Amino acid sequence: MEFLDSPYFCEYMWTHLYKSPDDNVKLCCIDKGDSLGNLQEKTLEEIRNGDVYKKIRKDVLAGKKLDRCKICHEQEEKGIGSYRKTTASFKNYDEYAKPILFLDYRADNTCNLACKSCGSGFSTKLIDTDLKLGIITESEASTKRLFSKKNKKVLEYKDALNNIENIYFAGGEPLVNQQHWDMLDYLKNTDRLKNITLSYNTNLTTLTFKNYKVEDYWYDVESIDVMASIDGFDKGFEYFRTGAKWNTIVDNMKRVTRINKNALRLSITVGWMNLKSVLDLCKFVLENNIISSYENIDLTYMYGCEGGKLSETPLEIKNELIENINLFLDYLSNHKKIYEENNLKSILISFIKTINNSVDNDNSFKKWITKLKIIDKQYKTNINEILTFKNPNINNRIQNTYNSIVI
Ligand code: SF4
Repeated sequence: MEFLDSPYFCEYMWTHLYKSPDDNVKLCCIDKGDSLGNLQEKTLEEIRNGDVYKKIRKDVLAGKKLDRCKICHEQEEKGIGSYRKTTASFKNYDEYAKPILFLDYRADNTCNLACKSCGSGFSTKLIDTDLKLGIITESEASTKRLFSKKNKKVLEYKDALNNIENIYFAGGEPLVNQQHWDMLDYLKNTDRLKNITLSYNTNLTTLTFKNYKVEDYWYDVESIDVMASIDGFDKGFEYFRTGAKWNTIVDNMKRVTRINKNALRLSITVGWMNLKSVLDLCKFVLENNIISSYENIDLTYMYGCEGGKLSETPLEIKNELIENINLFLDYLSNHKKIYEENNLKSILISFIKTINNSVDNDNSFKKWITKLKIIDKQYKTNINEILTFKNPNINNRIQNTYNSIVI
């Protein structure tokens, strides 16, 4: 079978390097399988051309469907585009790795925020929260505190990155991570920035670090894509993205668009509690010409936060949220071109379906409010900022549950 005839061929299995904040290597960020090896235990070569990785490539070339790639398979079955890279950069593919072209590098979990929808795997500021919630043990907490000290540094692999074309930095927060700036310096000093496409997932709280500033690098790259995680508007934003300031974010959004008017994308995680605030954010960026197109807004379902997901929307708030979405769809329809061209409409309609079918479970609700209370206490945030629902019953339910929780 020719490699491109394999129905599950994905070039990332040969040319992509995904490293998680705990130094594990996988096929890519949505690979659902076990780690292919940890860089603290094996060399990059031992992992990339190890028996497990080689068997994966052989299986795919033989036309096998891998369970670990199920996210791509499911999306393709639904007719939605997947991450799978079906084009080829080389002539032939066998069981051995090709040079790395795509680097997805999560240096560690160092972050300057304690967002309500995040966890200790991605933010050092949430280690104590997860410990209090019983999500991690004391020993896991100790390990997570040491990621930044123990993890391998990206420049240790610079010889393997000679052919790199695309780099995706995520975290933790990459812009407060020394490794990110070291890599940019290395590319600049070796005159390679101009051949590199840079992508980020960033909380956009800062575009400077020590003596570094993004302008010294981002103007020089071949292309730049800045996915900003911004899960709300104004006070709602500040509550959900604990530690961030709304005015700074607005300034930084504008600063990114000054460097490249199409660079900014919004990557927005939506649960039942921040949905209304997210819709206000979408309106704000449109009306202030901050986003060049609604194509640059990615709304995604919050996951991994028990009790906070849209599929767990409390009964008292279902109708109000559906009404909010419908009003926003009306608003969008007045911007006809935008409305017809982008997929925002379909994701919002899928939100309505999810809310309609959601299951209100009191235990899960309490777990979510407990998480909020722990973070509020640690970082002095105030739940009253988001008790702005029209239906007083949901505000009362949140408040009563909040008050009943002893931490
Ligand atoms: S098929 Fe999808 S999940 Fe599998 S490696 Fe490719 S992008 Fe990742």
